[in-house]
Amino acid sequence: MNPSTFLQSFLKAKCPHCRQGEIYTHSPLNLTKFGAMHKHCAHCGYRYEIEPGFFFGAMYVSYAFQIAILIGSGILVSLFFKEPPIWVYVVTVAFFIVLTFPFSFRFSRLIWLYLFVNYEPNAPKIEKRKG
Ligand SMILES: [Zn+2]
Repeated sequence: MNPSTFLQSFLKAKCPHCRQGEIYTHSPLNLTKFGAMHKHCAHCGYRYEIEPGFFFGAMYVSYAFQIAILIGSGILVSLFFKEPPIWVYVVTVAFFIVLTFPFSFRFSRLIWLYLFVNYEPNAPKIEKRKG
């Protein structure tokens, strides 16, 4: 299998180090396990949590996503309703934030990971690693 481009590997949630191994164990549509990650890349063995608490930084990215969703859904409400009461805004924003949460969670971690891990086209393929 050929390594994919940056965008392909990012959208498919592949390892940023080798662009071949999977990062997440389940689909984003699996509502109970959408955030479950492999500890190591199955292809190159790269450890995704570079240091303890590494993914706490992804909360900054997630915050930016939530603000974008808040502003976007607020604009949608103001376009479709004429002077709606405040609860319409609150319910709409909450709805879109809950609806998009699995995707914003995963993409926040992906962006954080891709910010700090360099692509290594010749990353050695490991045979088997536990954990
Ligand atoms: Zn890898």
